[in-house]
Amino acid sequence: MKENITLPGDPLPSNSRFYIERPPIESDAYRELLKPGSLIRIKAPRYMGKSSLMLRLIHQAQTQGYSIVTIDFKLVDSQTFLSLNDFLRWFCVNVARQLSLASHLDDYWDEEIGSKVSASIYFESYLLEQIKSPLVLILNDVDYIFQYQQIAQDFLLLLRNWHEQGKQTPIWQKVRLVLLHSTEVYIPLNINQSPFNVGLSLKLPEFTVEQVTELARRYELDWCDSQAIENLMYWVGGQPYLIHQALYYLHQQKISLPELLDNCANNNCIYNRYLIGLLTILQKDAESSQIYHKIVNYSTINIYLSTNVAYKLDSLGLIKLNGNNYQPACEMYRLFFQQNLLIENHDSSVEKLKQENEQLLFLVNVDQLTQVANRKCFDDRLALEWQRMAHLQKPLSLILADVDEFKFYNDTYGHQSGDDCLRQVAQAINSVIKSPDHLVARYGGEEFALILPQTEAGAAILIAEEIRETVKLLRIKISELTNKTQSTNTARLTISLGIACVIPSGDVSFTEFFQAADQALYQAKQLGRDRTILSSKFKFGYNE
Ligand code: GH3
Ligand code: MG
Ligand code: MG
Repeated sequence: MKENITLPGDPLPSNSRFYIERPPIESDAYRELLKPGSLIRIKAPRYMGKSSLMLRLIHQAQTQGYSIVTIDFKLVDSQTFLSLNDFLRWFCVNVARQLSLASHLDDYWDEEIGSKVSASIYFESYLLEQIKSPLVLILNDVDYIFQYQQIAQDFLLLLRNWHEQGKQTPIWQKVRLVLLHSTEVYIPLNINQSPFNVGLSLKLPEFTVEQVTELARRYELDWCDSQAIENLMYWVGGQPYLIHQALYYLHQQKISLPELLDNCANNNCIYNRYLIGLLTILQKDAESSQIYHKIVNYSTINIYLSTNVAYKLDSLGLIKLNGNNYQPACEMYRLFFQQNLLIENHDSSVEKLKQENEQLLFLVNVDQLTQVANRKCFDDRLALEWQRMAHLQKPLSLILADVDEFKFYNDTYGHQSGDDCLRQVAQAINSVIKSPDHLVARYGGEEFALILPQTEAGAAILIAEEIRETVKLLRIKISELTNKTQSTNTARLTISLGIACVIPSGDVSFTEFFQAADQALYQAKQLGRDRTILSSKFKFGYNE
């Protein structure tokens, strides 16, 4: 029978054809499950497929005829976490129930010997005695108990102890522990007591291009060429839930891929509920919100994350590490959180920190002399816009501008005046730029560069010409000019500009594009300066 295609969200049943294996994770886990006294730890952020893998492990255990108990810590009443005794009694009774055994808890429980020993005796002398088969004990959302430090410490110590016993005592070899958690373990534990450094550790990765391609094939999507997959993954990364969701809607033909991607961070997009959910969780934590706000808004700087914040953001699947720089896990997150994550903070120390950070950010990205963006900022932004425009399939214009005869100006009026002049030119260029996503940078010496995303060559020429005029209107005098460019003795300072414009794609290299603008500028110089030249090769949107 053909499997019904349902809206993704719930864990995939173990026989689902939409389950994509991430080798060797599944086979390693199945193998470990068969080992007496084994312990498996599965770590991954939300929506990465932990529960689907859990269902597969359960199925595997069933085929082996094992007894299975699943404990979900999210379901524990907070009252139960008030004492270790209550918590362990709750735990034991739940295991007994799921094994269809009467609890008889008080027959084994002796508060005088302590709840940990009582729980161990209850397992050893009762539960494990009663069942014939191995017991797979699945503990889901273990990180939920981390917030109750003392209980977590004792409980984890107990689990480690049971696992150790499995190495010597046959009855404890029946137990196979499976721990699932989304955050790092932030409970201080002696390494000899922690269950988190023994057994098999599995970290679920994002889907690869091949895995997404395979899933698209299983959804019978005929468009699944590599460009489409690449576009989809550019926006939503390889997060299984987000990928499933997209492929599901595409399969149902409720939406086309360009429509989906163009709107993926908007109010009416298929991910809206999910994104709002993430936003709501994030906003409950002021510190994490502050940091994430920086991560999505300032892609070019290294942002310091305390371990605690890093755990939180990582467990929500919001970040990825690129080199030693944290970035949003996918471009859709960057866009959505840029638009929706509002930071409000009245705490003066946080406010001060924020100001300091902003100051730092400013220093890293701004040219001190002219106060426009510096070379580093330019390089970072150009790389980013190149990628962004490639995915949007929109034109990117680059203007390189170089002050004419500036060496002569410097030599004649001195370095100080030269500096003043550069400041004025920078301001003049800046005054022409109106769009917030256009960037003016000092490229070096007396050279400036402008990055104009979503701008065709025709519009870039108008901007360049306005800059040229504005610089001339500064009326910066250059007297006693030799007959190099102007014939009069007193002339005005001018600027030459070169432009390139292209829709970035795989066929064009980034360097080639930059060189084209540079060549156009060189040509402007050759032709007598004080002019704008458009590259003959990269001139998208120019009507001759
Ligand atoms: P062209 O019209 O061909 O561009 O000639 P040019 O003289 O402008 O070009 P060239 O590259 O030969 O000279 C650039 C000069 O810019 C050299 C240097 O004295 C000056 N310069 C570079 N950086 C600074 C700076 O930060 N302050 C000042 N005052 N001068 C600078
Ligand atoms: Mg120069
Ligand atoms: Mg120059």
